[in-house]
Amino acid sequence: KPRVRFAPSPTGYLHIGGARTALFNYLYAKRYGGTFVLRMEDTDQERSTPESVKAILDGLNWLGLDWDEGPGKEDPKYGPYFQTQRLDTYRKHADQLIAEGKAFRCYCTREEITQRREAVEKVKGQGSYRYEGTCHDLKGPPPGKKLEDAVIRFRMPAGEGTVSFDDKVLGTITKAHSDLDDWVMMRADGIPLYNYGCVIDDHLMEIDLVARGQEHVNSTFPQLMLYQALGWTPPAFAHLPLILGPDREKLSKRKHPEADVMLHKRTGIMPEALLNFVIRLGWSHGNDEVITREQMVEWFDFDGVGSTSGVWNPEKLQWLNQQWFKLLPPAVVAERLVPFLEARGFQVKGDARLEPLVLALRERSRTLDEMANTASIYFKSGVTLDEKAAAKHLSGDSLNLLRQAREKLAALPAWTVEPLDGVVKTVSEAAQVGMGKVAQPLRVAITGNTTSPGIGETLLLVGREEALKRIDAALA
Ligand code: GLU
Repeated sequence: KPRVRFAPSPTGYLHIGGARTALFNYLYAKRYGGTFVLRMEDTDQERSTPESVKAILDGLNWLGLDWDEGPGKEDPKYGPYFQTQRLDTYRKHADQLIAEGKAFRCYCTREEITQRREAVEKVKGQGSYRYEGTCHDLKGPPPGKKLEDAVIRFRMPAGEGTVSFDDKVLGTITKAHSDLDDWVMMRADGIPLYNYGCVIDDHLMEIDLVARGQEHVNSTFPQLMLYQALGWTPPAFAHLPLILGPDREKLSKRKHPEADVMLHKRTGIMPEALLNFVIRLGWSHGNDEVITREQMVEWFDFDGVGSTSGVWNPEKLQWLNQQWFKLLPPAVVAERLVPFLEARGFQVKGDARLEPLVLALRERSRTLDEMANTASIYFKSGVTLDEKAAAKHLSGDSLNLLRQAREKLAALPAWTVEPLDGVVKTVSEAAQVGMGKVAQPLRVAITGNTTSPGIGETLLLVGREEALKRIDAALA
């Protein structure tokens, strides 16, 4: 039973890349009856905020990616799940590594390192800076420096060597020790850096498989060196391909507003559709496009993850959303439509017309926002007539037909689709014209325009009183 994790840094909203990482881990855990752990890597004290923690939890909750363990679901054996609450653990292992000569205290200041880096890197062809080993063999602080100012660095083993791993997506990757540095594990204030905290936690939380974005491939090498030094078995790794924006640039919060998961909630994309869209960014199952949660759990594995980048296709997201309008029960869609109508000032909670509205509009709406726009005409009082449509359908003979229809409608004992359609039929037969000649003036009078669901449905959705009022206005 695999234990996997999603380990976001709470420095902003949940972005699409994070959502995909969370989804893949979640599905893997579900498929194999494992545990999906959520860990907050909140060690960047300037950028981590409680608001971001909340934003990430909200995003995961909206998508229905529930974690089995993590904030709010603590397992005493593995928690806490915020790295800033695990500082003692990091300190303990760092002390042990120092005692074994596998890490050392380094007293070089940030300024000193920067100066040396600049000196090295301004010489062309010399490559990038590597720590020279200045503090390798110090027994205590050098003159003028204090123990409490020391950072803790990992000590790369001497001599030639390579480190490699078998990535589930990328295959075998290898790096020479000579390309690695004595990297900083822990700052002087006891805050771990990413590579260090990540390894300690992944091991202690008994993570079996680490799936994360491809930007972390290079971090895997120093992390593996640390597993070696600690004598721990590393987990398996799967590095997920990049996600590109519609402009084929790397999807980034800075350039692409659509990278924000919750933006899609606001524009009326449903979580089922967004997840369906996200799973296809880098993963596929034959030609399947519309994929349910059950199918995801049944089919997902890392062997379906390709190494090529997924490209953002906005039309596809909207298309998927429309497919999901049809897959979900109308009552569910109706419930989700409510806030969009309320935002337009309509008090529609409990309105019996919501479900029939969804049924009538789901074929022609791509987002909840769009559906609410179209639906607005059924909740408003009165309607604005499209000039062209009115000129064409609310003039001459059409007005006579409309008047006749009005009379019959007003006399109907029941305001339901069949008799409503029946009125159009009777009036057109009596006048010996096509049904459209009656339906179009009615439609324009009711909706202001020439497109709407069936005329009986339209009349039903507006309701008797409002429908008659609008027809009267058109006739006036
Ligand atoms: N905190 C890292 C991030 O958000 C996690 C990387 C990892 O999964 O190891 O990018």
